[in-house]
Amino acid sequence: MKNLCLLGSTGSIGKQTIDIIKRHGEYKITSLSAKSRIDDLEQQIDEFKPKKVCVYDETKAGILAGRLKNSSTEVLSGMEGLLEIAGDKDNDLTVTALVGMIGIKPTLAAIEAGCDVALANKETLVTAGHIIMKAVKENKVKLLPIDSEHSAIFQCLQGKYGPNGDYTSWYGSPVVEKILLTCSGGPFRGLSYDELRGKTAADALKHPNWDMGAKITIDSSTLVNKALEVMEAKWLFSVDVDKIQVVIQPKSIIHSAVQFVDGSIVAQIGVPDMRLPIQYALYYPERLPLDCGRVDLFELAKIEFAKPDYDTFKGLKFGIDAAKQGGSICTVFNAANEYAVGRFLKGEIGFTQIYDIIEYCMSQHKNIAEPTLDEILWAEQEAVEMSMKFLSL
Ligand code: MG
Repeated sequence: MKNLCLLGSTGSIGKQTIDIIKRHGEYKITSLSAKSRIDDLEQQIDEFKPKKVCVYDETKAGILAGRLKNSSTEVLSGMEGLLEIAGDKDNDLTVTALVGMIGIKPTLAAIEAGCDVALANKETLVTAGHIIMKAVKENKVKLLPIDSEHSAIFQCLQGKYGPNGDYTSWYGSPVVEKILLTCSGGPFRGLSYDELRGKTAADALKHPNWDMGAKITIDSSTLVNKALEVMEAKWLFSVDVDKIQVVIQPKSIIHSAVQFVDGSIVAQIGVPDMRLPIQYALYYPERLPLDCGRVDLFELAKIEFAKPDYDTFKGLKFGIDAAKQGGSICTVFNAANEYAVGRFLKGEIGFTQIYDIIEYCMSQHKNIAEPTLDEILWAEQEAVEMSMKFLSL
């Protein structure tokens, strides 16, 4: 049995991770964390009897600790608690399904404890990719992507590692010519910029293919999510941003593809079901059965492709610009978006104002090429302050 630490166990990815583990076993859940959903967490504690759990919200942690007075499970709280469970050297795999930049430090703690990480938290690589990838190398751990596109790319790259494990061939040059990062286009594909203006949170929350949390569903409608995925891919597969091509593929059947130096394109195709990338990361390199649907090529008959509309979906353009620059501007892009989406979900700002806020914050920021963790957190704070300033102008 391998010891598993599951960070973010009450969210969508966390619950699906548990579902997969219950089917195939091999893991003992030794620690869990939740932000504030203590009722769900308590059920999971009853079922798996972990050694430790962490509730990020201090008040909720206190309530849960009261309920678990006679339990063998220890209740921790806050960032300190997350770092304690993630940094446990007995863990074999840590699944990071935390939402937001709070994922950075626990992910780093897991890596530094010599633990493999299955990563579902985008912000970690987006903001601190240079720090994380260096730590992965130094500690010789595996970083396994859970994001569906990156899982697809990872699956396409199996067997293509060069002698250095860095996707270079025996000539020492990269084997990957291009990464084809697919994108459904979201619910507003085909609309003009003016048509986007009037869109509400309720409109944006209707994703055509994927069933996901609110923040990522909005990010999929603005295509900011795809920009964040470009940044993730850049770090995970050490490719230049100009080798990552975003391809609109409305049905989300091709989850991404890799074009190699011999001209071959290898794609991963499947139904849109997050359990597949989760399972692949948990049991890598094994392929185990999964009762998700099957793609019927005859029913599908044709697959459509299109180029993204960068003039309408400005967030994608801004994000790719940030990815090319690298450094703390990526944090600013992410944090300005996170702030704007929060306000948009509350109905306080319009859809295209999300782009306006991002653009303003990026224009105000003095980029730091290789920011430290403190500088990353500072850039986040700056972006929030700039966003508030922009809205009060
Ligand atoms: Mg994705």
